[in-house]
This record gives sequence, C-alpha cells and structure tokens, in this order.
Amino acid sequence: MASGKIIIAIDGYSSTGKSSFAKLVAKGLGYIYADSGALYRAITYFAYTNGFIDEKGNVDKENLQKVIMNITVSFRTNKKGESRTLLNGADVEKQIRTLTVSNSVSRIAEIPYVRSFVNMQLRSMAVDKGLVMDGRDIGTAVFPNAELKIFMTASEQVRAMRRFKELQEKGDKETTFEQVLENLRKRDYIDSHRETDPLTRAKDAIELDNSSMTMEEEIEWLNKILLPNFNLKVELDKEE
Ligand code: C5P
Repeated sequence: MASGKIIIAIDGYSSTGKSSFAKLVAKGLGYIYADSGALYRAITYFAYTNGFIDEKGNVDKENLQKVIMNITVSFRTNKKGESRTLLNGADVEKQIRTLTVSNSVSRIAEIPYVRSFVNMQLRSMAVDKGLVMDGRDIGTAVFPNAELKIFMTASEQVRAMRRFKELQEKGDKETTFEQVLENLRKRDYIDSHRETDPLTRAKDAIELDNSSMTMEEEIEWLNKILLPNFNLKVELDKEE
C-alpha cells in the first residue's frame, strides 16, 4: 500500500460537479485544491477585455501570444474560505463564470501556446504533492503520473440543470436553460475534438457517474478507493 501525499487528478465533461467534489476532497484530506479551468477562464476574460476576441468569437492568436507572458493568474482564499481567482492581482472570480466567458473559453483553451502556458503554472503547484486538481487533461497531460485519476460523467440534462441552478443562485436570471445546455454541448464538443490534449478518459482513470448520487455518496465511493490503496480517508466536516 502506498503512503504519503498523492496527486488526485479529476477530469470530465463540463458541469459534472468536478470542482465541488474536488474542493471537498481537498478539504477533507488537508490538500491543496487547484481549479485548472479557472486559469483558462481568466485568460479568456483577459483576451475578451483587451480586444483579442471579436464579437464573432474569433481570437487574435498572434497578438495574444505576444502578451501572454504578462498575464498572472493566482488564487486567494477569502475570509469565508472560498477560493477566488485573481488576474494580474484583481479579483475576477465573478467575471470568469459568466456565459460570455463560457462561450469563448474552449476556443482559447484549444490554442497550443495557451495550454503550455497554463500547464507550466499547474505543474508548479505540485512541488509538495498533496494536490487535488480538476480539469480536462489533468490525468492525461498535466500529471500523467498522478497516483489517482478520476473521470467524472453525468447525463447531459443533469449537468445543464446543475449549471443553470448555479447561475440562478448567483443572481443571473437572464440566461435560459437552453442557452446553458447549448454552451455545455458546444464546449464538450470542442474540448473533446481539439488537437492538443483533448478531453479523453485516461486509460488508468476510474469512472464516477454521479448523475443520481449525492455528494456524501460520492465521498463514500472515493473512500472505498482511498483507504485500501493509499491509507487516506476524506473526513467530511459535520458542520457543513
Ligand atoms: O472547468 P471549467 O468548466 O471551468 O473549464 C472551462 C473550460 O476550460 C473548459 O470548457 C475547457 O475548454 C477548458 N479547460 C481545458 N483544460 C483543463 C481545464 C479546462 O481545456 N484542464
């Protein structure tokens, strides 16, 4: 049985609940949580607000490449314990979750130099292991040697409804369920068909279909793998 800190790579389609699950797992193990999608989203927001994406969604790749090294994305945990994404020092957590960013992010994420730039930053987070990272290519490209790889899936309707409710709870009453569903389908398609590191299940990843599972059941499922293989157990905070 392996012992010590490990890297847990969680990949899967859009809105499968990867980040909620990953955050809870990291908290329960005392590990660091890293949201790789937030980096792609922050770069997209940067590109959008600085004129590198036109109204039709076309990306000015040549000029974006010239300035990409000037972009700094970092994370900060606020007083409520929530992770916030900072773009060049400014909190953009709210802005990067909008449908405008969601609609362009996969076009930015398919650019090879963007992926290399993000991967460099993601790998620098793993110096001491003890890391839970979610995304699309964590188990296949970013950390192919991760000790544990999970591939999350859920039915399309369930995923769209989750994202729709999330937007509603955040006060977005304009975006319709159909728009969310369309965005999800489009992103899944682009993410799985791009040339560089497409979304695909790593051969050694364990699949978790959470279409009809509660978060407690997902953690219970994970503990059945963690305990015998890594002598680790996710302890859920009873107050939550
Ligand atoms: O995880 P999230 O939905 O926030 O990711 C936003 C987008 O970033 C994805 O749709 C995908 O295009 C891109 N992404 C990626 N590789 C990752 C994480 C995210 O291409 N590891």
